Amino acid sequence: MPAIDLHSHSFYSDGTLSPAELVARAHAKGVQVLALTDHDSVHGVAEASTAAQELGLTIVPAVELSAVWRHWTIHVVGLGLDIAQPALTEALALQAGARGRRARQIAERLEALRMPGSYEAVLAMAKDADSISRAHFAQWLVETGRVTGMQQAFDRYLGQGKKADVPMPWMSLEEAVALINGAGGHAVLAHPGRYSITRTKLRELIQAFKQAGGEAMEVATATEKPDIIRYLGQLSQQFGLHASQGSDYHGSQMPWIELGRFAELPAGCRPVWELWQGCSSA
Ligand code: AMP
Ligand code: MN
Ligand code: MN
Ligand code: MN
Repeated sequence: MPAIDLHSHSFYSDGTLSPAELVARAHAKGVQVLALTDHDSVHGVAEASTAAQELGLTIVPAVELSAVWRHWTIHVVGLGLDIAQPALTEALALQAGARGRRARQIAERLEALRMPGSYEAVLAMAKDADSISRAHFAQWLVETGRVTGMQQAFDRYLGQGKKADVPMPWMSLEEAVALINGAGGHAVLAHPGRYSITRTKLRELIQAFKQAGGEAMEVATATEKPDIIRYLGQLSQQFGLHASQGSDYHGSQMPWIELGRFAELPAGCRPVWELWQGCSSA
């Protein structure tokens, strides 16, 4: 049901729209329930909720946490959480501080590669220094003609282990899930098809996530092909996880993604919204 979009970004992380603009666009695209899931930030949730009230749209307060499992960076979405919960606030501040320091280091690496001036440019794109994302650097590399597109920016410079990549001290997978549960939310393993890991490792990741107290995984996302969505649907059922869906909308720099536009959940999946609606699937 594309009227429910549980993954989106505003300019409080690496999206291009303000929360109010995002909500207006979601409304125009027929979305009725929207989760704002900015990277390591809940700063946009209040503004989104206010804008949504006027349009009769429901906002699910949410976040997308950056975390580490073994040596991979993975993302955990927290849905329906108390955004003012103290432990969450503290952990988000730590992640933001690390993000801010990393931005300067990435800029230094790019400068060493004879590409000066990136820091000022990405700072101008981002809401503040501590919300600068690799996506902003990728956009700068595209705009200055160094690469042909976002993918090439990550393949050449920003991806894990590439020339301008800076390893990050993100919280652990277990910590991410515990924080979300502690704030009364539901932990969702984000875009499981997008990690560069084997299917065996993916199963181990899902197992670790479930063991940590995770409740759901994303199954229907905008960029996955139908056979992968079917596969993820099977995995969610095998591991006893609910299934989530969302566009991961970022805005104009990723024009191939639109709010509310993705496939339906495969039959047999238990939708994640049952967890807060208290109903059950047929
Ligand atoms: P960060 O959280 O700052 O490390 O940045 C990660 C963000 O960069 C993701 O949330 C995506 O929006 C974006 N990203 C990561 N990999 C790619 C890629 N290969 N192509 C385009 N965007 C990407
Ligand atoms: Mn992003
Ligand atoms: Mn993500
Ligand atoms: Mn996202």
